[in-house]
Amino acid sequence: MDFSDTAEEAAYRAKARAWLEANAPRGGLDPGRETGEAMEKARLWQAKKAAAGYAQITWPKEWGGPGGTPIQQVIYSQEEAKYNVTSAHFSIGLGMCVPTVMAFADEATKQRFVGPALRGDDVWCQLFSEPSGGSDAAAARTRAVRDGDDWVVNGQKIWTSGAHYSDYGILLARTDVDVPKHKGMTMFWLDMKSPGIEVRPIHQMSGASGFNEVFFTDVRIPDSQRLGPVGDGWKVAIVTLMNERMSIGGGAGLDYGDFLELAREVTIDGAPALKNQAFREKLAEWYVQTEGLNYTRLRTITALSRGQTPGPENSIGKVVGATVAQELAREAVEMLDQFGIISDPAVAPMAARFQGQLLSAPGTRIAGGTDEILRNIIAERVLGMPGDIRVDKDVAFKDMPTGR
Ligand SMILES: Cc1cc2nc3c(=O)[nH]c(=O)nc-3n(C[C@H](O)[C@H](O)[C@H](O)COP(=O)(O)OP(=O)(O)OC[C@H]3O[C@@H](n4cnc5c(N)ncnc54)[C@H](O)[C@@H]3O)c2cc1C
Repeated sequence: MDFSDTAEEAAYRAKARAWLEANAPRGGLDPGRETGEAMEKARLWQAKKAAAGYAQITWPKEWGGPGGTPIQQVIYSQEEAKYNVTSAHFSIGLGMCVPTVMAFADEATKQRFVGPALRGDDVWCQLFSEPSGGSDAAAARTRAVRDGDDWVVNGQKIWTSGAHYSDYGILLARTDVDVPKHKGMTMFWLDMKSPGIEVRPIHQMSGASGFNEVFFTDVRIPDSQRLGPVGDGWKVAIVTLMNERMSIGGGAGLDYGDFLELAREVTIDGAPALKNQAFREKLAEWYVQTEGLNYTRLRTITALSRGQTPGPENSIGKVVGATVAQELAREAVEMLDQFGIISDPAVAPMAARFQGQLLSAPGTRIAGGTDEILRNIIAERVLGMPGDIRVDKDVAFKDMPTGR
């Protein structure tokens, strides 16, 4: 198997690299900060990418993308990751919400929203998880009740990333309690400034407030903002979640290479950490996991390069990658000793990025599917093992203990 770029791919990589070198903001972006100057910088970068054809590379020309291939998206993401400019602010909108709008909204709605989202003018959030169900999104209890041409929404969502700075959102709501949980939901898009919406940021251990609780009290949504048929919300949600799982690329996290760089500089008992025997054993373990991950990723990229769709084995990348990222960050902060507690990027080694990674890593192991859920997917869909027991599959929602 030859993993190197084809001549065409190499040419695209060189072009992307040159463009990034000339245009990427010096000093990178700060994905941990969502407001003020950091947000403005992120918007400007997004607009510049869109104008140059590097935002949503696979989107067709009619929607403002360059109509590129998935492999070009992978190549660009790999190169962009070297500049610390991957912007988290727009990824949920562009990776999940807007593709759902593109698949289910009418023509006028698509015309109104796709371009502004691509250029970073509008930010979107995804309102699926609730206190009673995150892994099981089909357990949603937020109710939407029809009233004339509107729906009236009451309930609560939680862990909604970016709701506090989002302009729009997609909402999964329960519209029928008399049928099993997967059959009684409907999807809507909505203006996050609608009367009756209250967004309460959740304070995280990193000091940031990346996600929120969102409360709905008699929020009116016109029926024209429905995405897909009434009762088909689960099918629409699957399209959103498939898009989430397809958003692959270089990633912005620090990796084994960054860790080695640190281990060369930091000393243990007067010698470089890299020479320490106990430490080297751990390094070997992470090296094996990282290489396994790289080859699994290359398998996905090879599938994309051949025009095939990557399978559920993608889940392996997240389970292993998120765990290794957490272990590397923990070890790096320990290795830095008293400097490990300095979080000011201006003075901390490697701009405190390992400290930041240590605090965000637990969330990475939960968001977009927890370790256990992804292991279930690998067991059932990759290894063909018997399915999880799902006792509530055919029970009317109102008869489920959590449905009342
Ligand atoms: C950083 C971050 C950003 C997020 N952003 C968003 C967002 O923008 N929009 C949104 O809607 N949601 C968002 N979420 C929510 C996320 O999707 C959920 O947290 C996740 O799906 C897990 O749901 P939960 O927290 O309710 O945990 P639960 O589903 O209650 O799970 C609790 C524990 O039980 C385990 N478990 C659950 N079911 C099973 C099973 N069948 N088999 C084995 N074990 C199981 C889980 O693995 C976990 O350990 C975000 C979460 C994080 C951490």
